[in-house]
Amino acid sequence: MLRRGKARSSSTDYDKEREHMVESQLMRRGIKDRRVLDAMRQVPRHLFIPKDMRDLAYCDGPLPIGQGQTISQPYIVALMTELLELTGQEKVLELGTGSGYQAAILSRLVSQVYSVERHATLAEQAEKVFTQLGYDNIVISVGDGTLGWPEHSPYEAIIVTAAAPDVPQPLMEQLADGGRLVAPVGSRWSQVLAKVKRQGETLTKEHLTAVAFVPLVGKYGW
Ligand code: SAH
Repeated sequence: MLRRGKARSSSTDYDKEREHMVESQLMRRGIKDRRVLDAMRQVPRHLFIPKDMRDLAYCDGPLPIGQGQTISQPYIVALMTELLELTGQEKVLELGTGSGYQAAILSRLVSQVYSVERHATLAEQAEKVFTQLGYDNIVISVGDGTLGWPEHSPYEAIIVTAAAPDVPQPLMEQLADGGRLVAPVGSRWSQVLAKVKRQGETLTKEHLTAVAFVPLVGKYGW
């Protein structure tokens, strides 16, 4: 991925690329939530990408982040965030911190983000970027996220950014009344985005678009 002969992009170049990403990849495909679009404009995605691949940060696809894991395509990050219908005061749980980019986007939109990652090295790297950016409303725990994070529950929104055969049961229990959950569910290689809403004791589930995520590995995953 080393690009010879090309000077490293400046932060102004990145700003321009990010604006272009928002218009050509997100707005054109139907992302409408203004707050989500603003967060995608604001968060420097390139800082969440390994240094030797930063020039690809604003491309229309996922990228490797180490440990065999990936940062999702910008459009998928925006779509899943929009589906959570965030208004500002929520406490959100994310499973699969990875690079920390999705958590960073969420942190601009809600009051507190809790994120669980099973690889300590990824969690540490993500934490460094949050500190660098001064994003102080994200807490990461290293462990099996399929168990959720009961101490801080219930959550008004839950997002799973790795794929499981179905939504892990503990997450359903940690979803607040009126809460929304978005997760890729299906087989190892292809899934659909599922959106769950809780109204009292009633959970309704709808299946949306086709996606492909790395596996959620744990007690209630693969
Ligand atoms: N949201 C991330 C992308 C995540 S890739 C981003 O914005 O970059 C999926 C992540 O889920 C990987 O980092 C993987 O290690 C993690 N993961 C897989 N199974 C997990 C589990 N049971 N608990 C917590 N994290 C898990």
